[in-house]
Amino acid sequence: MCRFRFLLLFLFFPIVAFAAKGDWQLLKSTHFFIYYKEAPQSTVERLAQAAESCYSNITNELGFNRFNFWTWDRRARIYIFDTQQDYRKDTDAPDWSAGQAAVANKLIKTFVTAPGFLNNILPHELAHIIFREMVGFNNPAVPLWLEEGVASYQGENIYAVKAKLAEGIRSGNFISLGDLSRLGLSKSEDKARAALFYAEAYSLVKYLISEFGRGKFVFFCQSLRDSRNLAAALSKAYSFSNMANFEEGWKAYILR
Ligand SMILES: [Zn+2]
Repeated sequence: MCRFRFLLLFLFFPIVAFAAKGDWQLLKSTHFFIYYKEAPQSTVERLAQAAESCYSNITNELGFNRFNFWTWDRRARIYIFDTQQDYRKDTDAPDWSAGQAAVANKLIKTFVTAPGFLNNILPHELAHIIFREMVGFNNPAVPLWLEEGVASYQGENIYAVKAKLAEGIRSGNFISLGDLSRLGLSKSEDKARAALFYAEAYSLVKYLISEFGRGKFVFFCQSLRDSRNLAAALSKAYSFSNMANFEEGWKAYILR
């Protein structure tokens, strides 16, 4: 019997050790499941801390902090691949990509040495996921400017953006709200026009939150989730009679 046990141990131990080497390991934080393989423990812990602080900053700034939607098995998942090569093999991402998110699956992928991931990509993609949790993952009424405006909300400087946009309004280099709502950014989009799109998108969200408060923005997001109609949600939460009226208010805010 004893000899049999010893034999089992001898036969199976190397196999178990070999299988564990390439397996995903898991670190759980309050709102995240973080999967990694050979990444140093300090890297994984730093990422967990950054993700938790992004989560709390984003939910505070948007007014979503009373909805604690990412706990227990509803936590978002982050995969840290060991190398850029492993990451690209899995995601098929271009070689400049440092991170990728599948918003509807609450899933983000990156790799150990990804440049700019913690400071830029992580807050941007997390904001996308948090916002979609609020307005509905399959809600077709959410325009791209609103999504990207929310995702770019952290780290922007409204004074610099307002100065640039005010100049654009005066010189005619400005995308109207109607065009902004129809615009789908493709890879072939002109770089300057894409930058203008992001600046305007951010300023629209900033206008709604700083002029009317977080409570109204939450109510607007809930109305958008329930009505699946942008104009209806805007007029229900704010006093805009129509989209033109909303655009007028936004432009006046930029020029002020
Ligand atoms: Zn984005």
